[in-house]
Amino acid sequence: MDEQERANQAAIARKRQAELAARGVRVVSVTWVDNSGVTRVKAVPIDRLDHAAQWGIGASPVFDSFLFNDFVITGRHAPGAVGDLRLHPDLDRITVLAAQPGWAWAPADRYDQEGVAHPLDQRTLARTATAKLAEAGFTARAAFEVEWAISEPGEEFRPAVSGPAYGHARLVARSDYLRDIVAALADQHVSVDQIHPEYAAGQFEISVAAGDPVFAADSTVLVRETIRAVSAHHDLRVSFAPKVLADGVGNGGHVHLSLWRNERNLFANGDGPCGLTREAAEFTGGILRRLPALLAVGAPSAGSCLRLVPSHWAGAFVAWGPENREAALRLVTGPAGSRSWAANLEVKCFDQSANPYLAMAGLIFAGLSGMDEQAELPDPVDVDPATLSEEERAKRGITALPGSLTEAADAFLADKRLCAGFGLPLATTIADLRRAEAEHFADASPEEIASAQRWVY
Ligand code: GLU
Ligand code: MG
Repeated sequence: MDEQERANQAAIARKRQAELAARGVRVVSVTWVDNSGVTRVKAVPIDRLDHAAQWGIGASPVFDSFLFNDFVITGRHAPGAVGDLRLHPDLDRITVLAAQPGWAWAPADRYDQEGVAHPLDQRTLARTATAKLAEAGFTARAAFEVEWAISEPGEEFRPAVSGPAYGHARLVARSDYLRDIVAALADQHVSVDQIHPEYAAGQFEISVAAGDPVFAADSTVLVRETIRAVSAHHDLRVSFAPKVLADGVGNGGHVHLSLWRNERNLFANGDGPCGLTREAAEFTGGILRRLPALLAVGAPSAGSCLRLVPSHWAGAFVAWGPENREAALRLVTGPAGSRSWAANLEVKCFDQSANPYLAMAGLIFAGLSGMDEQAELPDPVDVDPATLSEEERAKRGITALPGSLTEAADAFLADKRLCAGFGLPLATTIADLRRAEAEHFADASPEEIASAQRWVY
């Protein structure tokens, strides 16, 4: 960010400032997501937006070393309390918040004091990964599904709606609430695909339209914070944690991803298995073989490990298959006639304790590596792998995903291509955080983990 760029940003911000003030905006929250998946924020009054756009908002680099509970780890590359970074609001994504009157929101890119992009900035990394994909001649379209559970206020989880899974009764009981969410998102130009009551107690799900990877990661932050704000208006507490209760079905954060070249969706109408093109098959193969490592960014919390159990629709096995909800990678083909635009890969094993920018970057680097390596895709799996015998699973090359954060951290650090993509300072900090979280919960019961993380994300 040189002098000219700073001046440009200030000029754009001054224009936006006037529009936003005319729409009643008094304060702008500027968010980033830390390596433990927590959305952090600083806010400025609207008349300081130009200053923030030009010079950034000061924020310590120590947030890169935060655990889910705000403890700070020390590590080889983990930043400490010395130094300063600048949060630069992305003025292209600034959004008036419908459920927080007088507020607008923008995602931040973090720079150092010299105007150089911070090497551990997760949003910058997602943008770099997307640019690498473009250099290789591809674009990606992505979206995160959001599952959440509503509770009566208080520390305990007391589901704030009853009725059967997917039951219309739940929708009727909370129809004002759900309408307010859809309306707020529409006012914020987030295009909602669908909303419904989910399986677990008090659980709902919303899905939104796909876009480029950084857009998708920004959108999922905006969607969750909007749900949180609407929930507050309805006196509800909301949990996006992977495991709200120690037993039962968790909250996923499934990622939908498709690969495109020249306006063509490479996940459909190809000569490969299930209509995949060679590029999409290799891309998928690169992700599949790296799933244990990718958990370090996609399912990165102690709660994630509780969630990833077989026969809970979480995708606990390294396998892929068309419309298979028990495979970590589900190929969503879409109905006949829609496939050229609808077919995509659903990464089911990811959840919302993930930093969505890191999750996107990890998937893209893994997919690109798969194309470099011409990764082979094993045969698709069309049953719940848990119903196969161990021998049968071994024969088909199906393994269980790692059950611990330490295993995921080790697999992540052992993957040279992922580490090269992330850069060593960020990769080692991520691994150090996962190990520290594992150690923190070394003697904890599932109930203790669920209650410690229930209200964090
Ligand atoms: N709640 C499940 C999970 O933990 C997913 C349910 C579904 O397939 O949508 O991922
Ligand atoms: Mg769901």
